[in-house]
Amino acid sequence: MPGGNPWAALKERDDVLFDLADLPAGEHGRWYAGERVILLAKGLTYAERRTALGHELGHAHFGDTCTGNAHVNSRQERAADIYAANMLIDIDDLISALRWSSDPWEIADDLQVTPRLVEIREARMHPGERAYLRRQLADQVEADDEP
Ligand SMILES: [Zn+2]
Repeated sequence: MPGGNPWAALKERDDVLFDLADLPAGEHGRWYAGERVILLAKGLTYAERRTALGHELGHAHFGDTCTGNAHVNSRQERAADIYAANMLIDIDDLISALRWSSDPWEIADDLQVTPRLVEIREARMHPGERAYLRRQLADQVEADDEP
């Protein structure tokens, strides 16, 4: 399995409980800060489950609570997405995928996450990682040019 394993990360957190639930359509997961419970929707695909669990573990990691402030809430959602993207998408796996595809859906399928998470990983990459990625992909172009 590519990238980090969110199930192993969950297991390491004995302060967080987990269950499956019937959530409203379109909602993949929930984090209950008070009870420290992660709920994931039943019937998700493997990639959706991985992505949603990574995201909710981000909330658990940051100790997020739902506030009455929309700006704070959306900042928490963004931070949880970035946490999931970094946990689930290893830079070398992303580079391997980018070597054969530029389609977010194909890359997401390869990495077993949602296409949106691939976009977040690419958009919010550490500058050092971005330089590494560019170098790796440029090396490939040079290698391809060799007779
Ligand atoms: Zn969230």
